[in-house]
Amino acid sequence: MPERSESDSRKLLRRLRDTLAEPGAGQERLDRITHLIADSMGTQVCSVYLFRDDETLELCSTQGLKKESVHKTRMKLGEGLVGRVAKNSTPINTPNAPAEKGFRYMPETGEEIYSSFLGVPIQRIGEKVGVLVVQSKDQRHYSDDEVYALEVVAMVVAEMSELGAFIGEGEALSAPHKNPVMFRGGTGQEGAAEGRVWLHEPRVVITNPVGDDPVKEQERLNKAVADLRLSVDAMLSTNHLADQEHQQVLEAYRMFANSRGWLRRMEEDISRGLSAEAAVEKEQSQARARLESVPDPYLRDRLHDLDDLSNRLLRILTGQGLDTGADMPANPILVARNIGPAELLDYGRKLRGVVLEEGSVGSHAAIVARALSIPLVIHAELITTEALNGDHILVDGDQGIVHLRPEETVARAFREKIAMQAEAQTRYASLRDLPATSTCGKTVSLLMNAGLMADLPSLAGSGAEGVGLFRTELQFLVRSHVPKRGELAGLYARVMEAAHGKRVVFRTLDIGSDKVLPYMKRVEEPNPAMGWRAIRVGLDKPGVLRMQLQALLRAAAGRPLSIMFPFVAEFDEFRDARQRLLDEVESERALGHKLPSILEVGAMLETPSLAFAPEAFFEMADFISIGGNDLKQFFFAADRENERVRKRYDMLNASFITFLEKIVGRCERAGTPLSFCGEDAGRPVEALCLAAIGMRTLSMRPASIGPVKHLIRKINLDDLRAVMDGARTEGATNLRPAVMDWLARQDI
Ligand code: PEP
Ligand code: MG
Repeated sequence: MPERSESDSRKLLRRLRDTLAEPGAGQERLDRITHLIADSMGTQVCSVYLFRDDETLELCSTQGLKKESVHKTRMKLGEGLVGRVAKNSTPINTPNAPAEKGFRYMPETGEEIYSSFLGVPIQRIGEKVGVLVVQSKDQRHYSDDEVYALEVVAMVVAEMSELGAFIGEGEALSAPHKNPVMFRGGTGQEGAAEGRVWLHEPRVVITNPVGDDPVKEQERLNKAVADLRLSVDAMLSTNHLADQEHQQVLEAYRMFANSRGWLRRMEEDISRGLSAEAAVEKEQSQARARLESVPDPYLRDRLHDLDDLSNRLLRILTGQGLDTGADMPANPILVARNIGPAELLDYGRKLRGVVLEEGSVGSHAAIVARALSIPLVIHAELITTEALNGDHILVDGDQGIVHLRPEETVARAFREKIAMQAEAQTRYASLRDLPATSTCGKTVSLLMNAGLMADLPSLAGSGAEGVGLFRTELQFLVRSHVPKRGELAGLYARVMEAAHGKRVVFRTLDIGSDKVLPYMKRVEEPNPAMGWRAIRVGLDKPGVLRMQLQALLRAAAGRPLSIMFPFVAEFDEFRDARQRLLDEVESERALGHKLPSILEVGAMLETPSLAFAPEAFFEMADFISIGGNDLKQFFFAADRENERVRKRYDMLNASFITFLEKIVGRCERAGTPLSFCGEDAGRPVEALCLAAIGMRTLSMRPASIGPVKHLIRKINLDDLRAVMDGARTEGATNLRPAVMDWLARQDI
């Protein structure tokens, strides 16, 4: 009966707390705890397994198994039932453990006589600590209530401060935070930085996991939730926020702050005897464990929002602010599990670098880091558990490597690298106002890619001649509803103003594939990159496209406007989309609105098919931009998101170059301006080769403009082309070796 089991559960927690407060050596105390749990739960066995290192669990205390096996029995993460509980961070409940898949019998423990098994993870937020197990001889299936009760107990055990001391003879769980550690992650944004750790969210310390009075704890939670809602509402109503991008992120928070399911689970935890803060932390840990197994990027972002809210709630409840009294060090390197785009924008250019445990190349935070040109390493696993505020840290965004508390020799080598990069930057800055003209007199126009208001300041700094690709997805992705026409028009107008008359090419919404809108019904597709995305969605569901086109026309109001449609696969799609734009122009005219002074309508060439489109397509398009990222993935049939095949095919593959030349030729014959805006445009050697085959406009991330311009100005593009042609004639599959060999002999 729930009534009774709730008060039992509260009683057990209180006894646990009293035991925790008693004096005595760690082992003795842990033994008393396992005894207490077995006794209260009416099981013959209760055992605590703790992580000895990242991969190994060790039996640290038991009631019921053979005492000799304590500190002897070990298993790898994922091994046996205990290892599986730890690995998946989910309970295992079985009446017949030996029959269970993956069961591993540990003879030294004498556990063969126990049939039923219930194991739950012991975890703190973002940190796996161990596994708590109860076992019985009879073949019983533990009730949901019992599973729940054990989870609540595990939560209290996780908060024991001295857990580390139980491993071996007083050896700590992990070495004290002093040793150098290297993290191998992924590149989010290139660049190198040295500085001191600044933890985005220092951990909240919970001192009272057990609550004496559930009514009082519930009141504390209610009050904290009310405060949380008020603070989110207040954030939303202050209009001094830098721009709308902040606002939209906060809207999503508001949704969660009002989520009933979340609140109900915490209420239940409190009725079982946890304090309000322990209840928040329990739900947060479980949400994080779920997060690990959620592949869907949108859902992960939402779980991240929930995590943020839990942190805020914990801070309200414990009174522990973000401000721990520590001052932000000089040269701060932000270390976080993950961070939202709005928060990162708040820190702005103060940061020297960012290191995240999660994140992805296409995440909003990565887009912001790129806009701010801050080196970013993603997937640095467990760094928030290792790093302390003020720790010395080196971030190598090029290699995706982080050195925490590095040895001096490593730091010295790293500084040399930074010095060389700084020297190069000064050299690039001096080229800012010079054209990218090769030694044979050909000038290449260098533009930048953007997707945020925050990108625009780079326009002046980088020396870009304009924005060759403005991706419009982000404004749609960060909100919880379809943006309004007026909001978008306002944003686009601000982008044009910030460009001070330089050309900005707006690409209409490219959603679908990996980019899913929160408010769009998710259509399960076997192969989303080749599915219903970009212009296909725009043509089939014209409402949003129309609204976006109207917003662009209104934003331009008398100024020149360039629009391009993404992912056009055949002429008819372009003709159709273009006609819809022209229809909107007519409606705007009829309404008496000011029209753009010039309207250019272009297509992105991202599928091989479009290169073979009828001549009329090339004549109709005012310009064409090659989306090299997509074009390459479809040309080679190699998924750009799949690490195993992503780097397998090189842009300098002779077949691909021949294909690109064909496009250049067709555009030249039709007199249609051509540009290239995939990532390869920003890679210096690739950029040179693109220019050599006649691609005279390249659009890239702002930080690449300096290095690319520097190289072009040193090179004779005619000679380079001859080298490429020569290698191809000789039958090379890949032109890179010949190009690199030739470059090595140039004076650069
Ligand atoms: C491309 O495909 O090269 C491109 C620029 O578009 P996106 O990367 O946004 O798909
Ligand atoms: Mg693309």
